[in-house]
Amino acid sequence: MASKTNSKKGTYGVIIALAAVIITLLVILISMESRSTKQPKPANTDTVVLNSPTESKPAEPTDAVATPFITEAPTELPTEIPTEVPTEVPTPEPTEVPVTPTPSPKPRVIGGKTSANPNYEGKVLVALTFDDGPEEGTTEEMLNVLKKHNAKATFFVLGIQINKGDTYHALLKRASDEGHQIGNHSYSHKFPSQLTDEQLHDEVVRTSALIKEITGQTVTVFRVPGGNKSDRVKRVTGLPLVQWCIDPLDWMFFEGGYIRNYAKEHGISYSEAESAIIDIVLFEGVHTTLEGEPYYCPPVAYEMKHGSILLFHDIYMGSVHAVDRLLTFLEENYGNYVFLPFDEFILTENDAGPQAGVVYYNLWSTT
Ligand SMILES: [Zn+2]
Repeated sequence: MASKTNSKKGTYGVIIALAAVIITLLVILISMESRSTKQPKPANTDTVVLNSPTESKPAEPTDAVATPFITEAPTELPTEIPTEVPTEVPTPEPTEVPVTPTPSPKPRVIGGKTSANPNYEGKVLVALTFDDGPEEGTTEEMLNVLKKHNAKATFFVLGIQINKGDTYHALLKRASDEGHQIGNHSYSHKFPSQLTDEQLHDEVVRTSALIKEITGQTVTVFRVPGGNKSDRVKRVTGLPLVQWCIDPLDWMFFEGGYIRNYAKEHGISYSEAESAIIDIVLFEGVHTTLEGEPYYCPPVAYEMKHGSILLFHDIYMGSVHAVDRLLTFLEENYGNYVFLPFDEFILTENDAGPQAGVVYYNLWSTT
């Protein structure tokens, strides 16, 4: 019995031992399984895989993971950010931002010392006007002077002068071709008081037709002979009337007879006399008598304000030389004068060009 019980006990012991072994094995297996399931996770961590020198396969995923960060990121970031940011920020913005504010703080007052038009910033705009031509010998010289100084002017011509022949046609055509404006100064220079409405109208229409035929220019402005503007002239001509604000009285001072007398009185040559008179008119001013009344002609060179309209005649050599000296003086002493044809001159600081029925004394002053 004892042996039986012993053998039984031995059997139980074996069973228990086996059970213990099985349990142990199970525990080991479970633990191994859990390790094997956990392994892929660490495989994804860069540090573990990258640092393992033995495994070659996991190197692929590590490379795949690592390259985007190591190769792409450094190449993309430095190239895109440093190149775009420095070029965009410093170049366009600093140059453009200061430029736009500068035009805005120039809300210049119309009638100022320089042009209110941004295209002529800092410029003094003046309209040079020449009456009574074209004239052989002098108009050509005046055109040469204007060309030399890059000045554009307005020639108020007479139909009777144009009709003197081909030379006169050529002078008119040249003036137009060189960028000067051609205005109407009537046909025969008769004052409106001498003419009926119909005659005055005819004088204007005939002359405008000649100008159009020879130059192609459509006449837009009229200068009344003698400056005798009136409501009647406005109505009959139907054109803007151009007067002036600076009158050197060249028809008096630069006319041949006056210069000869001056030369005789002072015992000097004709050219010396002409030069002396030009200096007085341009830089000193002249006291004289006009229609029996005392008249002061201020020094033209110092009256050349922005917006001025000057009156000259292109039929005297004295006027040609005076304009040359005046423009030379302005260039040498100021350098910011611009001489424009009348329509363009008016357009710079007005909404439109010269208007019918309006009388112009300067760029803004009208009646
Ligand atoms: Zn005239």
